[in-house]
Amino acid sequence: MTALSPPDAPVDAKIAQLLRSQRDFFATGETQSIEFRRQQLIRLKAAILERQTEIVDAVRADLGRPEYEGYFEIGVLDELTYVLKRFARWAQPRRVGLPLVQLPGSAWVQPEPLGVVLIIGPWNYPFQLVMSPLMGAIAAGNCALIKPSEIAPATSQVVAELVSATFPPHYVAVVEGGVETAQTLLKQKFDHIFFTGGTRIGQIVMAAAAQQLTPVTLELGGKSPCIVDRDINVEVAAKRIVWGKFVNAGQTCVAPDYLLVHEDIKAALLVALQKALQDFFGDQPAQSPDLARIVSNRQFDRLTALMANESVLVGGDTNRASRYIAPTLLDEVSWEAPIMQEEIFGPILPIMSYRDIETAIAQINARPKPLALYLFSRNQALQARMLSATSSGGVCLNDVFLQVAIWGLPFGGVDDSGIGAYHGKASFETFSHCKSVLKKPFWFDLAWRYAPYANKLGFLKKVIGMS
Ligand code: NAD
Repeated sequence: MTALSPPDAPVDAKIAQLLRSQRDFFATGETQSIEFRRQQLIRLKAAILERQTEIVDAVRADLGRPEYEGYFEIGVLDELTYVLKRFARWAQPRRVGLPLVQLPGSAWVQPEPLGVVLIIGPWNYPFQLVMSPLMGAIAAGNCALIKPSEIAPATSQVVAELVSATFPPHYVAVVEGGVETAQTLLKQKFDHIFFTGGTRIGQIVMAAAAQQLTPVTLELGGKSPCIVDRDINVEVAAKRIVWGKFVNAGQTCVAPDYLLVHEDIKAALLVALQKALQDFFGDQPAQSPDLARIVSNRQFDRLTALMANESVLVGGDTNRASRYIAPTLLDEVSWEAPIMQEEIFGPILPIMSYRDIETAIAQINARPKPLALYLFSRNQALQARMLSATSSGGVCLNDVFLQVAIWGLPFGGVDDSGIGAYHGKASFETFSHCKSVLKKPFWFDLAWRYAPYANKLGFLKKVIGMS
């Protein structure tokens, strides 16, 4: 932990002191300067670039992630470049028109930083998912405290080292630790809490935030459906699905959780999915250098229990010692099966079929709103129907996963899959308060609003649009 107090001080005293120092620093107004923010974003970019190998190695140590997929974490640089180019414009006051009756005067919306924000991260993309909100917090002019996930300890350490080497703790600091540390943090008063993790823990975070009336952004998970219509390029669809599902061994919040496939295309799709698996990972996926591992024994046990009574079409092999689960396809899973009751978050893909799309839509809508929804279809009427008939954090048509890397698209869930959004400008807005300002001159002052009101009601009725 980056701390100002003596190393043997109790954690809550250290946290309280850290927070006080951030509040004092924020109060100096230094973070308000656009140039200051720009310099910090540039420092962050340089620090990530300099430590890219350490970051990739840490993610490999935590998740057995292949180097290629490790570089997804460094993908925050792309967003950083996007933000650096634009954030000064986002920070400008935005003029708003006045109604005639309010003239003369001027009105505008002026973004201001919130203050000191808390960022709590998950283990699955343990670097990126704290750095991406951090850049939004910095761009908007805040101080930040980060608590990375203890389940990815190597990455947590790299995050702590990078931050302490780049920023003074009274500006940005990392507090490492597990649930207890998170709960100590949540007892403090922050100006915003940005949480990424599971829905159940999201409820705990929101309840704690409510005690302090702290606004929250909750980036949660869910079961993201992937609907596959008849009118597709089967090979391309299969490759995209297999990639998006099995990247990071399925431990991705926007991974397609299950497939709903039109009966007429199912046989062909199954063949194509198996071919894609074979092409990507070979005969013995356990030997493939391109498959990540399950993060913990707890997750491994949960996943193996979920597929225990299902019909395995491909895969199913497991090895607890190496926390390996083969990329697995499960056929004809029922809606009532245990695996359909919770987010899978692992390399297991249940496949179900449908004949009538309206029945499929009803099944999707009977469940909590997911973080992502995928539809593979060339049929534009079907695409439009799916967009209007279902609700999800985001949608990607004819591909999976990639919607998260379009920085102009806000990324977030809806209902059970989250509250609020971030990425690019959405991050800037999440970490800003949009202050409304009205400015009036003294030289013009109509008497119609002042008492005595005699003979003025007619004019008021006109003003409020009644006549
Ligand atoms: P998690 O909710 O278990 O943990 C997230 C963070 O919360 C960790 O830092 C952890 O220390 C802390 N935490 C855990 N228990 C806590 C408690 N009782 N009180 C306070 N803090 C607590 O989530 P996870 O297992 O790290 O991540 C997996 C989940 O995150 C999945 O559901 C996934 O879909 C979701 N996720 C969502 C996104 C997104 O952007 N929407 C991204 C990645 C992961």
